[in-house]
Amino acid sequence: MCGIFGIYGHPEASNITYLGLHALQHRGQESAGIVSADGRGLHARREMGLVQEVFGARELEALAGSSAIGHVRYSTAGVSQAKNAQPLTMQYSGGKVAVAHNGNLVNAQTLRARLEAEGAIFAGDSDTEVIVHLMARSRVRRLEDQIVEALRQVVGAYSLIFETPTQVIGVRDPYGFRPLVLGRLREAYVLASETTALDLVEAEYVREIEPGEMVVIDDGGLRSCKPFEAVRPARCVFEYVYFAKPDSVLFGSSVYETRKALGRQLAREQPAPTADLVIAVPDSGVPAAIGFSQVSGIPYDVGLIRSHYVGRTFIEPQQSIRHFGVKLKLSAVREVLRGKKVVVVDDSIVRGTTSRKIVKMIKAAGAAEVHLRISSPATRWPCYYGIDTPVRQDLIAATHSTDEIATYVTADSLGYLSVEGLAQAVGDPAWNSYCNACFTGNYLTPLESPQAASAAG
Ligand code: AMP
Repeated sequence: MCGIFGIYGHPEASNITYLGLHALQHRGQESAGIVSADGRGLHARREMGLVQEVFGARELEALAGSSAIGHVRYSTAGVSQAKNAQPLTMQYSGGKVAVAHNGNLVNAQTLRARLEAEGAIFAGDSDTEVIVHLMARSRVRRLEDQIVEALRQVVGAYSLIFETPTQVIGVRDPYGFRPLVLGRLREAYVLASETTALDLVEAEYVREIEPGEMVVIDDGGLRSCKPFEAVRPARCVFEYVYFAKPDSVLFGSSVYETRKALGRQLAREQPAPTADLVIAVPDSGVPAAIGFSQVSGIPYDVGLIRSHYVGRTFIEPQQSIRHFGVKLKLSAVREVLRGKKVVVVDDSIVRGTTSRKIVKMIKAAGAAEVHLRISSPATRWPCYYGIDTPVRQDLIAATHSTDEIATYVTADSLGYLSVEGLAQAVGDPAWNSYCNACFTGNYLTPLESPQAASAAG
């Protein structure tokens, strides 16, 4: 998973991009990069680390020009490598171009094998490079046509921002798996994964880039086209459940309000009548826990505190410290929990290991009972479209019943939201435009070799 940002036509393009990436930091903490354009050339910086670690005043000053694109990359298991940091930049017969990608392709391995057999040399192992190689091979002349020709050959999730010395181009795949929005900052055009980035840079939200839409921004303004065959949209419902920032408006609805609605529906479906307190696993469980409290009438309180000084980039130190794990991130408030029968609301269970530690921590703080409630259905299927949910056998709900999971995480009871409840909370009429494969196994694209689907961003 990743966050992308772009701006065209602003005297402080790289500074604004820096701010935009800050707002999107929750979408990726592994690496950060910005490429600016000054009409003649491109200037790039990308490194491992958080946005504020990678960029200082000096680095930003070197990124001259009135347009810029940026990328933050999510840490996918094992492939934490500088060579995969984006935006990618390349020089080929068509000129200089940079690209930032959010999403995973599902046919990247087949295409890559074919390209390598034809002599292509890849620098990293991200899907994005496949797109670039396909563009480089195109015989058509204009960049936007090369992009279309390349993207017609790839299948999967891509929200992309391209940049040349004189243009910024945004594209969203025909399924619309990953978000991408358009904003205006006075004369400038802004593209971003989420509206929270527009808010931070004080840009006005214009609209979503539609599934299958390409926008070309240059001296002549903004042109839009829909060059791909239309398919049934498949917006990622897990963006609502976990990934997006709560203050964003995603796919046209408030993330915060949707999460609260998930919690309200959860309280109707999986009540915990004996409980006397609702708490959230912060930060992701907070809106749903408030919704749960509203419907159940059980008071909400803060029973877990999250440390803001432990990022996901935290490099686990020596063995003797490692087992403290979740305690570094979360601590329990004894005064709130002691003697209480507690409903604990979290957004999802993936492997179950964190949930087990959290339940044990709450019990160790004196809670009499722990009733774990999850504001999404059981995650049973891996995501091939950009969310880092692991191979099937690592998903606890793929191989264990709800009762078995409750026993494993040591909860007195466990309840998940139903798929129907999720549909209702997201808004029934729109439900058919979402991808819910992680809960149902209903993948809407062909998959070349499920276990082999590779990781991009
Ligand atoms: P676990 O009990 O180990 O499965 O961890 C569950 C926690 O992981 C929940 O609090 C979720 O908010 C969080 N989570 C869910 N999906 C992801 C993801 N793709 N990346 C990182 N954390 C996630």
